[in-house]
Amino acid sequence: MGDELEIACGVFAAINYDNRPIFPYIYWGMRAQNHRGHQSHGFLTYFDGKFHIHRSLDLVPKIKTSAIQEWFGRLPGNLGIGNVRYTTSGKCDEKSLVKGTQPVTASRKGLKLAVSFNGNVVNTFQLKKEICKEFPRFSYECDSDLICHKLLIEYLKGKDTESAVRTCMKEIDGAFSVACINQDGDFFAFKDPHGIRPLCAGHSEDNSTYAFSSETASLDINGFVRDFELEPGELVKISKKGFGRKKLVSGQRKAFCAFEFAYFARPDSRFDTKYVYEVREDFGRNLVWENPAVVKDAEVILSVPETGDDSALGVHEASGLRWERASRRHRYVTERAFILLSKDRSPTIDRKINILAPKIKGKRIIVTEDSIVRGDTTRVIVEKLRRMGAKKVFVFVTFPRIIGPCLYGIDMATYGQLIGAKHSTEEIAQIIGADAVCYQSLKGLVKATGLKQDELCTGCITGKYPTPLAQTIADEMKKRFLQGYEETERLYETESAIPEASSNTD
Ligand code: SF4
Repeated sequence: MGDELEIACGVFAAINYDNRPIFPYIYWGMRAQNHRGHQSHGFLTYFDGKFHIHRSLDLVPKIKTSAIQEWFGRLPGNLGIGNVRYTTSGKCDEKSLVKGTQPVTASRKGLKLAVSFNGNVVNTFQLKKEICKEFPRFSYECDSDLICHKLLIEYLKGKDTESAVRTCMKEIDGAFSVACINQDGDFFAFKDPHGIRPLCAGHSEDNSTYAFSSETASLDINGFVRDFELEPGELVKISKKGFGRKKLVSGQRKAFCAFEFAYFARPDSRFDTKYVYEVREDFGRNLVWENPAVVKDAEVILSVPETGDDSALGVHEASGLRWERASRRHRYVTERAFILLSKDRSPTIDRKINILAPKIKGKRIIVTEDSIVRGDTTRVIVEKLRRMGAKKVFVFVTFPRIIGPCLYGIDMATYGQLIGAKHSTEEIAQIIGADAVCYQSLKGLVKATGLKQDELCTGCITGKYPTPLAQTIADEMKKRFLQGYEETERLYETESAIPEASSNTD
């Protein structure tokens, strides 16, 4: 489970052509994706030319049978979009969180748009300036507002959907996977030209319902068939005839987030051909092949549930070592470590994970971890294993050492919070108290995903970011970090801190 990180958002959107209410599909789609954002959730349906919206904080709620009719009444129509969100932009106080809850809407001169978005916009200031010319009182609490208003401005210029989306793709720097409904009930989705965040399309077996989803698990929960992952720079419109696909921007390399495979996505989701759990098993196998001396010294494998489980199976299969299932998650304890004070982390781990001391006492253990970001959680786990009598603790980390921030929607936006930006692998082992830390190699990571290296974003592990402004900002951040500048906030949200970068969007 590494350090508890958050992703920006999860998107699910669907239309039914038999005029059946769409809300149940959206609801289940969002329930299946609550791991992508738990601070707020929202549903929006389209009926009779109007948007009907429910937005609220926290997890997608359980709905009592007695309340179902009320929900249907509140969210009528056969077309809708939903979102779960964790904030990686804007403020985090309760008022801002409520304001930043998606889906968002914007309207002007009879034109209207609703947007559900996953990702992160990097050229926020340039966009805000442009939007404020048309909407002088514009303020925003999430990047979805930027996308929604930018798209509306392009519509106001008389452009059609295709042309408006193309302009957005060309002028917005960042990661964006977006589902939209406009005033006419047109239903469409698109991805940024690098395809950084996931978004797939699927349909019901009777062909009456079509959907877009951040992850395939949300199609599965609805009994839908996955059709395809949207291409980078692709616009997909849905009509009665099915999907209308068009690549609007090309010539830029695909850069799918490599971290989705290691940490964020559900193991039972798939991107292209492989399920995420299969990729994680390969991560485990590769760690064995690349660290024979450590494997020879170890006696038993322990996984940190639940994101370490799949790689533990790979380690077990490739090494022949016993995978001791002696670590279990307390199933209904769901509080997140990061919302508690740092001094509370240790007891939080104790409350969340039960490790059976007699099974590890006196043993030399390989522990599988998905990633190390701050290092706090891994350190606490290693300490706990030592307290319980483990003789040696080797940490196998399925994601390579994180050396830089993410500017595309993962909650690690500064160098200062990254143990891997400040310390070598050996130093990290010392800090967390492990006998050795073995990171996934970049080559092993790429091979396991089934993609080519130049089809992945590896910004946080290589320092090479796929979009120009993100690279400029990351370089500036690194310079300041090395000079001892204290990063108190996300630099790309601090205009005065990066004047030259904030106006550069080439
Ligand atoms: S920088 Fe890292 S976490 Fe962010 S999109 Fe790229 S690979 Fe994913």
